[in-house]
Amino acid sequence: MPAREHFHSVMRIGPVQIGTHRDRAGRTVHAAVCTADRCGWSADYTSRSAAQLAARTHRCKVR
Ligand SMILES: [Zn+2]
Repeated sequence: MPAREHFHSVMRIGPVQIGTHRDRAGRTVHAAVCTADRCGWSADYTSRSAAQLAARTHRCKVR
């Protein structure tokens, strides 16, 4: 999992972790990151609900 600055409010849905951080422009970004070893999927979202939806619908290649 890549190191992110000010990564907080982490929650977990299945293999996917969702955390909130601020990007360099100071905007709040909700990042969804799959923790499965060979998957490597991650994406940033502007809302927490979008990140949660993506986490729930993520189809892990590893599984
Ligand atoms: Zn995955």
